[in-house]
Amino acid sequence: MSFGQDDALIVLDLQRDFCAGGALAIAGADKIAPKINQLIDEATAAGAMVVASRDWHPKGHVSFAARGGPWPEHCVAGSEGAKFHAQLCLPDNALIVTKGADLDKDQYSVFDETGLVEQLHGRGTRRVFLCGLALDVCVRASALQAVQAGFETHVMLSATRPITQAGGEATIREMTNAGIVVEHGDPDDTTAGCA
Ligand SMILES: [Zn+2]
Repeated sequence: MSFGQDDALIVLDLQRDFCAGGALAIAGADKIAPKINQLIDEATAAGAMVVASRDWHPKGHVSFAARGGPWPEHCVAGSEGAKFHAQLCLPDNALIVTKGADLDKDQYSVFDETGLVEQLHGRGTRRVFLCGLALDVCVRASALQAVQAGFETHVMLSATRPITQAGGEATIREMTNAGIVVEHGDPDDTTAGCA
């Protein structure tokens, strides 16, 4: 697999609340940061677009348990937990997409009324490569919507983690059935730090 100018690498929600010590920590989340940095380096060198999404909720968001939602309070806008993982090395020209910022609406997919589909189509993007968190929630929703939007869609399995093992396995089957290319890669093929 190698990137080209018509590709976009999309890093989903690699934020502190989803990593060790965070409000909604996902097992193994910290381990994918070096792998994602490696993908970013490869994408940047090839002239591909780099996109990073962030969950960015107001206090009292509809997805929080206090309002009957499925999740504990997490990624409150401007909080420490909403910051990107400390090791994530984004290029200066990365496009940051904010989602979940409306009090009464959640957005699992980075393409859900964010304008990203139109931006990528406008740029002539043909293929999208997804990584980040979590495989069975936001990566899943984004990948399924990417296919619907007409992109050749790849998911980098060694650079994502599910909230539950069973959820991850079901997601891989669902994505494969939807025509998404699941790239297995080498989970130990990592480098540390920023280039
Ligand atoms: Zn959220």
